[in-house]
Amino acid sequence: MSARILSGQTIAEAIKAEVAGEVKRLRDTHGVQPGLTVVRVGDDPASAVYVGSKVKTSEELGIRSEHIHLSAETSHERLLAIVRELNVRDEVDGILVQLPLPRQVDASEILESIDPAKDVDGFHPMNVGRLSLGEISLVPCTPAGVIEILKRSDIDIAGKHAVIVGRSNIVGKPMAMLFLKENATVTICHSRTTDLPLITRQADILVAAIGRPGFIRSEHIGEGATVVDVGINNVSDTDFAAELFAPEDLEKRLKAIENRGFTLVGDVNPKDAIERAANFTPVPGGVGLLTVAMLMKNTVEAAKLRRGI
Ligand code: NDP
Repeated sequence: MSARILSGQTIAEAIKAEVAGEVKRLRDTHGVQPGLTVVRVGDDPASAVYVGSKVKTSEELGIRSEHIHLSAETSHERLLAIVRELNVRDEVDGILVQLPLPRQVDASEILESIDPAKDVDGFHPMNVGRLSLGEISLVPCTPAGVIEILKRSDIDIAGKHAVIVGRSNIVGKPMAMLFLKENATVTICHSRTTDLPLITRQADILVAAIGRPGFIRSEHIGEGATVVDVGINNVSDTDFAAELFAPEDLEKRLKAIENRGFTLVGDVNPKDAIERAANFTPVPGGVGLLTVAMLMKNTVEAAKLRRGI
């Protein structure tokens, strides 16, 4: 078997086009321009890339964007005060505080201080609770993106066994809630799960959100499953890369390692997934692209919900 590759690119572009259309409609019919403010603290290079892409995409879609960049020494109280100011500014529909935050800042308290109506990351306890209750809420972007990939690739979810490896608040747990909402039968696995391959092999849909490059291998994948790879890891070891990629993909990967010191790898061994699965999301080019698209969708959703339009 050779898996169908589910392109995040095509789906992300379709969602962004829909969001741009909705932004235009809101402007034309209600005189409203949705606005997103991203707050970044410190100089973490990965955060800089993520925030850059969020700001750029907002601008492309006609969303008013603002980037507040604070020094790594910013105090907890100062950040709290900034979030509170954003909460009361009417033109700000979405507030995103980029994680990770420096040690002196209590990240949970900061996330809880964001007005739930502007919480476009969907991490506020109020939105987490609403999602668990099956109520309308702002949903975390990465798991929401996974559902979009599946639906827009005509992969049935209702009645299927969805197995998620990972139980983080950002991916694993909200993913489980979204699958339940879509009427899947859901199993959540984690580092204390006994005999992981036995469970994951039973999955019709297997989602890997672990944070370990190439962790999910042939033994974990049932023949004909749909495998969704959420992981984003850097691999710089060329021998390890050779275990992960088929010869036709390997050359490009080795070049990336040579040129920039690493290649991006998910939590699934792509060579094994392509051999055993029916559908597979690649890294890069899969779920990662959906995360930003879903953030844009959430910002427009927040603008509409807040204004009752
Ligand atoms: P976390 O580190 O918060 O969670 C990892 C989860 O994997 C934990 O629940 C952990 O279990 C579980 N785990 C770790 N080792 C094993 C093991 N040996 N067997 C089974 N389960 C294990 O990670 P995140 O959820 O934040 O992220 C997961 C991955 O997704 C990362 O690669 C991250 O970079 C990527 N990511 C990608 C995004 C995107 O836009 N595509 C967005 C967010 C994340 P336990 O709870 O028991 O410790």
